[in-house]
Amino acid sequence: MSSAFEIRLQRELTRLRQAHLYRSRRVVEGAHGVLLEVDGKACINFCSNDYLGLAADPRVAEAARAALSRGGTGSGAAALVSGYNREHAQLEEELADFVQRPRALLFSTGWAANLGVLRGLLTRDDVLVADELNHASLIDGGRLSGAHYRRVAHAQLPAFEAALSAPAGIDAYGRSGHKYVVSDSVFSMDGDCADLPALARLSRRADATLMVDDAHGFGVLGPDGRGSVIAAGLSVDDLPIYVATLGKSLGAAGAFVAGSEALIEFLIQRARSWVFSTAPPPAISAAARAALRIVRDEPERRQRLFENIEQLRSGAAARGIALGLDGSLATTPTPILPLILGDEARAVALSRHLFERGFWVAAIRPPTVPVGTARLRITLSSAHTPQQIEALLDAIADGIKTLTPSDSIASVPAAASIEASIAHA
Ligand SMILES: *Cc1c(COP(=O)(O)O)cnc(C)c1O
Repeated sequence: MSSAFEIRLQRELTRLRQAHLYRSRRVVEGAHGVLLEVDGKACINFCSNDYLGLAADPRVAEAARAALSRGGTGSGAAALVSGYNREHAQLEEELADFVQRPRALLFSTGWAANLGVLRGLLTRDDVLVADELNHASLIDGGRLSGAHYRRVAHAQLPAFEAALSAPAGIDAYGRSGHKYVVSDSVFSMDGDCADLPALARLSRRADATLMVDDAHGFGVLGPDGRGSVIAAGLSVDDLPIYVATLGKSLGAAGAFVAGSEALIEFLIQRARSWVFSTAPPPAISAAARAALRIVRDEPERRQRLFENIEQLRSGAAARGIALGLDGSLATTPTPILPLILGDEARAVALSRHLFERGFWVAAIRPPTVPVGTARLRITLSSAHTPQQIEALLDAIADGIKTLTPSDSIASVPAAASIEASIAHA
């Protein structure tokens, strides 16, 4: 007999299945990379954030293994207690140096970093001006902070300006709040880039503080892969709060915040997701350090990645496949190339078609993306070959022909058992 609680859960799960919004995982055997065995089937992976092919690089793995042999697995405690290891300290120094900031602070995940920064810095009197397509962790962090949340239409600079011009709140003691602007640098589901110099200019004019999440730009964009902010030439004064992650292009795990001495010291006092959380395993920091050296020393990886991006973009255009939100990708190339299909059933159907032919491209659906913009989020790695990309393009062109406009929610029964979607990471 089911409890009322179980019935509630089942009812919601049924609703998600019927709406093509049910999500499930696939099990990957062995190492992450371009060639994967998933659910017992070999496939070419086009839905990873391992942009430089470092997640299973033997040198990165060896650095972690050596650190494990020296220092074991656990950090033992939060960093403020006794968990702050030499590996963490050195990684922080190297990251700060790499992104040309005075200090950096290591977090266990990008999610924790964004929550910790926003919840730690903002008060209820402050105003947060945020792009509507920001990553979920920025949205949750902003909400948790209790600040006035002003959601701005994606990349609309006049809307940012308007949201910044309204006064911030005045608290009970007559102190006025502070304004913050927060944006992804590379939007994780669309692959387009924020106009960071313009956001910095608007922020400065409004006495606001700019925070940028560079999860998809760090290691990939800018000179030596130093990220979007260095690419845009923004100093710590222009861009006081920089967040990037270590689980994507670096193939490790974790995240860091970089900024002034005062910012980092403030976060050490106030970022609750950092203060009250066990420090990451030192071996993960050793892996990230090894990956950072490879990013710096092997520019050919980024070179290959950008050649791959160019091939996919031009090959898609030649086949009449429109990539990007309005069918034309932004001018700055990034490894995220979405194929927007609109409704969930079409996205799931095309993802399934590709998987049957050995290509893994996850369907991304609401609430990860806005309703009516379900898509295949194609991502590229420096490790993809030209042949693999050509084969994917052919399979997509074939697959699109099999989609009918009537591949809609009404006409396609529950596809949950061969669900092609994963939550993006
Ligand atoms: C992946 C991602 C995060 C979260 O980072 P994790 O280390 O995976 O928790 C934050 N922001 C953006 C833009 C991301 O894409």
